[in-house]
Formats: sequence, C-alpha cells, structure tokens
Amino acid sequence: MKIYLTFDYELFFGEKSGTVQKCMLEPTDTLLGLAAEKNVYYTFFVDVGYLIQADKYAELEEEVKRVKEQIMRMIELNHSVQLHIHPHWEKATWKDGKWKMNVDGNYKLSDFSTEERSSIIERYSNYLEKLIGKKINTFRAGGWCIQPFSDLANDLRKIGIVNDSSVIEGGYLQTTNYNVDFTDAPKKSKYRFSNDVCLEDEKGDFTEYPIASFRYRPSFYWWLYGLGKLFPTKHKMIGDGTFLSQGGRKWFVLLNYSNHHISTDGYFAKKLNAGLEKAINLNQEEMVIIGHPKGNTTYSLMKLKRFIDSNYQKHEFKSFVND
Ligand SMILES: [Zn+2]
Repeated sequence: MKIYLTFDYELFFGEKSGTVQKCMLEPTDTLLGLAAEKNVYYTFFVDVGYLIQADKYAELEEEVKRVKEQIMRMIELNHSVQLHIHPHWEKATWKDGKWKMNVDGNYKLSDFSTEERSSIIERYSNYLEKLIGKKINTFRAGGWCIQPFSDLANDLRKIGIVNDSSVIEGGYLQTTNYNVDFTDAPKKSKYRFSNDVCLEDEKGDFTEYPIASFRYRPSFYWWLYGLGKLFPTKHKMIGDGTFLSQGGRKWFVLLNYSNHHISTDGYFAKKLNAGLEKAINLNQEEMVIIGHPKGNTTYSLMKLKRFIDSNYQKHEFKSFVND
C-alpha cells in the first residue's frame, strides 16, 4: 500500500486565526520528527495566500521568515510541497495584531470572477515555485471547494497541475461558505478525470487521489466534541485558533452516520488503522490521509507515531514528489 500522509499547512479561518507558532511551526516540527529516518515522506499543501498577504505587513516579517524557513526545511528533508489555495486571503487584512479574514463571499475560488481566479492561481503557484525552487504538480482546494472544476481546469493545466487531492469519497457539505458534493465521485483510490472531479474519464489529463473516507457513527462525534473539554491536556488542539463554521454539520454528525475523511487530526487519528484496514480489504493500491499541523493534539500525535512506527516497514509512505 502506498500511504500518502498529506498536511494542509495553514492558520485557522474562523473568528481567531491562531498564531503561526502554534498552528504551523511547532506542530510541523513535531510531525517532521515523526518521519525522520524512517523513509516516510509527507506532502504539505501550503496555504500560499497567507504568505502573499502577510508579506505586505512589516510587523509580520519575522514570522513570515520563519514559515519560509520551515517550508525550505520540508524540501531539504525530501518532503513534498504543493499548492493549497484559500482565496479569501485576497480580502484579508491584518489590523490591531490580528487577521480579519473576510471569508463571506470570498471563501472559494468559484466566488471570484474568471479573471480573478486565473490571476490567483497563477500568482500563488509562481510564488510557491519561486520559494521552493521546484515545480509543483498537485493541488488541493481550500475547504475541498473545487467545484465546479470546469471553472478551474484550464488555469490549473496552465500552471502544470496533473494531480488533485481535494475529493473526499462520499463527502457532502453545503453551507454559506462551502460548496462540496462528492456523493457521485467514483469509489476508487485513484482515477483520471478531465472537467468534472466526480466523473471518471480514462483519457482525462488530471488524476484524482481522493482523500480516503470512513463511515463514522454518531457516537464517534460525541467523543470528539466531548473529549477536548473533558481531557484538555490530551485532547485539546495545539493550534490556538477557531474553525470556520460548517453550518449545521456539527448537529448532523452527532445524530447520523456520516462519511468523512480519514485524518490525523485530533480524535480522528483513532481511526487511522481502521482506515488502512478498509483500504487493504478493498484491494486499493493507495490511500490519502489528510491532516493539519494546527489540528494535532497530544493524543493524535501519539496515535500518528504508532501508526507510522507500526506500518513504515510494511507499507510505503509516499509523497506527491515535486518535479
Ligand atoms: Zn485548507
């Protein structure tokens, strides 16, 4: 099995962005340590919008420098660095020591005009490639909002994207900010497509590597939401920001079975091994796991360490290698 451990490297987009130190630098250092000397390679989907916007404020010079140094460290250690776009950064402002994100009406690429979209995709990609001195080839849309893909296909083709990893099999999230409907996506661990991420096309020039999914029972979420309050030392997120609201999703998942990603974040890390078993039983050749440095907890890091240690000799921990 090829296991792709992928991390969206970013701040939070809710009321509080959290700090670069707690959401990115510290937890990423820990993650890099878990992979060291084990032939384990991660893919970091870097939220380039943050860098582009933070570059404009002298006050943030020092933290931007440290983030860039950490990205270069990822490259030195042979991890992969790829493109993650949260376009609301275009409208974000830094004032009185904090970010005002302005996500409403600006959260997904499809909220922008054709010209704005092309410009964002090109500028963000150029920025990242210039920083790392390598080509990028893999994309993950912010908040999985990659639909309608036909609006992005040409711009992504132009910058050399051949792989996407935004789809979650069976994923569905329709709220003010999110537009995600992967209920029709092929039930495969890899497939080609052209203009619609949910429609397989053997001749398509993009390859989708969907984020592996799992059917979670309601009790899983009762624990997930309860444990942070009951046992903060073990289960409170290291990232010090707040999530963007996902509308009524919280209550839905507390009351219904639901499909969601297999993830290294917080209590989700409990299901890493069960997720791997599921992929093995389905005879899949690869599985993509999503995580966020900001979403780590003491518990999740312990679970991830065990997952890596017990599997790195049996399976291949692969990244989407930069060209
Ligand atoms: Zn993201």
